[in-house]
Amino acid sequence: MTSLPTMPRLPSAPGSVMAAAATATLARMGSCLGRSRQVICNRIQRRGFVSCIDLSHGLTDEQKEFQKVALDFASNEMAPQMAEWDLKEIFPVETMRKAAQLGFGGIYVRPDVGGTGLSRLDTSVIFEALSTGCTSTTAYISIHNMCAWMIDTFGNTEQRQQFCPDLCSMEKFASYCLTEPGSGSDAASLLTGAQRKGDHYILNGSKAFISGAGDTDVYVVMCRTGGKGAKGISCLVVEKGTPGLSFGKKEKKVGWNSQPTRAVIFEDCAVPVANRLGEEGQGFTIAMKGLNGGRINIASCSLGAAHACVRLARDHLRVRKQFGETLSSSQFLQFKLAEMATRLVASRLMVRQAAVALEESRSDAVALCSMAKLFATDECFMICNQALQMHGGYGYLKDYAVQQFVRDIRVHQILEGTNEVMRMIIARSLLTD
Ligand SMILES: Cc1cc2nc3c(=O)[nH]c(=O)nc-3n(C[C@H](O)[C@H](O)[C@H](O)COP(=O)(O)OP(=O)(O)OC[C@H]3O[C@@H](n4cnc5c(N)ncnc54)[C@H](O)[C@@H]3O)c2cc1C
Repeated sequence: MTSLPTMPRLPSAPGSVMAAAATATLARMGSCLGRSRQVICNRIQRRGFVSCIDLSHGLTDEQKEFQKVALDFASNEMAPQMAEWDLKEIFPVETMRKAAQLGFGGIYVRPDVGGTGLSRLDTSVIFEALSTGCTSTTAYISIHNMCAWMIDTFGNTEQRQQFCPDLCSMEKFASYCLTEPGSGSDAASLLTGAQRKGDHYILNGSKAFISGAGDTDVYVVMCRTGGKGAKGISCLVVEKGTPGLSFGKKEKKVGWNSQPTRAVIFEDCAVPVANRLGEEGQGFTIAMKGLNGGRINIASCSLGAAHACVRLARDHLRVRKQFGETLSSSQFLQFKLAEMATRLVASRLMVRQAAVALEESRSDAVALCSMAKLFATDECFMICNQALQMHGGYGYLKDYAVQQFVRDIRVHQILEGTNEVMRMIIARSLLTD
């Protein structure tokens, strides 16, 4: 793999005040930071400037600390392996468990069940940083975090204690099961049925395109316990090994190859009523609340990919010569690079604004999350694709990282609600105001 990204980082301010959970997390990380941080600090001092696309702009000292830890993890533990994970379709369980040791398995889960207890903005900053090292793996980690948050938020004490600690440590992995073969964008029309018999629900039906499925342990399943529409949907946690639970073949995909995607099949699958999150009929609300954060997270993964690609493109323009001079001498390509950087920074601002709105439970948060997902995933795809174009034929070779970022972020425009669905949500919010 050539030209993998080296990210710009700022030295941390000493003595910043950390939240208790954050302090514990950082203490765990401590020793792995030392050497690489020094190298980066020296590099920045030599350069004597802060890049206009710097990811740490506007962040607190505490957030810069988290970001630095995530960037180091991305460049040391993920970037060197991202091509191999893609090519061999490896689900990097051990690397993810290492990430969980840094607190990235339950970033916005409460600390009493093993979570890190950070904010949505902190979470976005971390996923953006991790994604510079492997977008596909980070995207799965983000789905896993979303599931852990759903159990933490809507589960009762027993459910939180039963599932969250193992999810936060990534001893166990989670999948989010909403989409069905016949219901994608119109998710509320789902058909997987859960019929109550005594203290169990009997599940029948199937889910399509489930990230992690087959390799994960905990399935957060939206299913129909009542009549038609959103109000007839409930949310059950189904554990791997439950009789009647099986999986389809592993899908062959354009990108996201470091995580498996399979159908999830229920045939008279008996799930304890005790595994229901919230009340009967609350499942669709739980699913959508999970997705609000999920949309920020997936958009953050797009930011990381785009950030890496801007740097890859810049580095390539500086060294590649055509017509007797470097490509960076071409004003056309300079303008393109400037546009890519501008789109990246605009996307980041939108994502971070939405994260703050969600954290504050503002009434415009749902629309802002949709806007951020729509804007950032579209813009970042264009940035990565333009970066590939700037590499010419080399960009089309698997030896160059840029093509993998393009393949990995394409699907962000499709899942967690397509970008057409994002437009529906934004328009509905405006028209019902
Ligand atoms: C790699 C991958 C991983 C995934 N992981 C998960 C997962 O972990 N869990 C999960 O539950 N799902 C997952 N999904 C499913 C994903 O969320 C759905 O693919 C997505 O919601 C779209 O549904 P669909 O594919 O059925 O497309 P459709 O709903 O059939 O839509 C097809 C196209 O028509 C457009 N469209 C539909 N209706 C309208 C309309 N009224 N107006 C305008 N345009 C419209 C859509 O935007 C889309 O462009 C994953 C998908 C992929 C590809």
